[in-house]
Amino acid sequence: MSIQNITCIVCPRGCQLEVDAERGEVKGNSCPRGREHGLAEATNPTRTLTTTVRVVDESGATIDMAPARTSAPIPKGLLFDAMKAINSVSVRKPVRRGDPIIPDLLNTGVSVIATRDFL
Ligand code: SF4
Repeated sequence: MSIQNITCIVCPRGCQLEVDAERGEVKGNSCPRGREHGLAEATNPTRTLTTTVRVVDESGATIDMAPARTSAPIPKGLLFDAMKAINSVSVRKPVRRGDPIIPDLLNTGVSVIATRDFL
């Protein structure tokens, strides 16, 4: 039996969870969302990736950085490869909030989207 100690990050209260994924048991959570988070974190941790993407002009020169994020959490183990993929692309104006910058990032079914207008 292995117990994992995990801090719940679903809300600011930050409950300290003791998770036994094999048995599906979670202790220390103050609400049901903590149980769900603890089991997910112990078996398939995911994160929403918040980053920036280069904005380039016609010559390909970087003129700004556009804030972007994944449209949904992706597996934590893919974060490094995701950053490599994001760093390899650039966008040209106009970019609108919600525009897909990389559809289906690393075959996850999750897109990288712009989070601000760049007009
Ligand atoms: S278990 Fe519930 S109350 Fe505690 S940090 Fe998680 S979401 Fe917040």
